[in-house]
Amino acid sequence: MNDTFRRPKRSDGPSIGKDIDARCGRCKRETLHTITAMVNETIAQVRCNSCSAIHKYRPTVAAKAKAASAAGTKPNRVSADMKEYRKQIADHDPDDVRKHNVFVRPVEGELIQHKKHGLGYVKSVAADKAQVLFAGGRKTIIVSR
Ligand SMILES: [Zn+2]
Repeated sequence: MNDTFRRPKRSDGPSIGKDIDARCGRCKRETLHTITAMVNETIAQVRCNSCSAIHKYRPTVAAKAKAASAAGTKPNRVSADMKEYRKQIADHDPDDVRKHNVFVRPVEGELIQHKKHGLGYVKSVAADKAQVLFAGGRKTIIVSR
């Protein structure tokens, strides 16, 4: 009945007594460790299950990467499309941008102003559709034949 105020922590979080993969300075490799001390939500001390050394917790390479992505430090990856789009519109002359019109067939490499998507770079043109890069991503638009 007292369980309400002895609520266990999230089952996926670390806690004392739990096993965790960590780097061991003595073993010089990643081994299984048992958590021996916690400071708030952070693992402060662990004991190596292989050599029994008690030391500061050193996360594995994988755990480090996971923590970094969980903290919201997303790798700054820009898609190839976005890179190309930015490059293509970088020094464009606004007067050279043609208003997209379904009756006018766009040309590859042309910059167009699309009603809905805004400024776009015509990446490729096929029979009745064109691949256009916009600030919001790559879109396929219908074009006249
Ligand atoms: Zn060890």
